Amino acid sequence: MARILLVEDNPANIQLAMMVLEVLKHELIVAADALDGIRLAEESEPDLILMDIQLPGMDGLKATHFLKENPVTKDIKIVALTALAREGDEERILAAGCDGYISKPIQYDSFAVRLSRFLPIDPKLSRFS
Ligand code: MN
Repeated sequence: MARILLVEDNPANIQLAMMVLEVLKHELIVAADALDGIRLAEESEPDLILMDIQLPGMDGLKATHFLKENPVTKDIKIVALTALAREGDEERILAAGCDGYISKPIQYDSFAVRLSRFLPIDPKLSRFS
């Protein structure tokens, strides 16, 4: 089980992430903007942060930059959630310090699969693989 911090302002995406993470038995913490996300990242030490890029106020790339500069949060993996598909977007996301990205719109099955690639393998489950 992993603790995942979702920084996302879109209620439909929050809802979908909640459903997927509940099925996968992960713990989910939600922040609706970047400042709340940074605060919760420091307080709750999540295993992974899912970071929406387009947020009200500070955007997700700037928030990622702050988190990667902060000694308390710098080692937490950050995966961008992005609808951006213009040339250079992937480079900008990785340059900001994100460890990867998941394209929006997020869909139930593909989201679960993409997400699992960023999470440590559960030693209790790996016995069976
Ligand atoms: Mn958004």
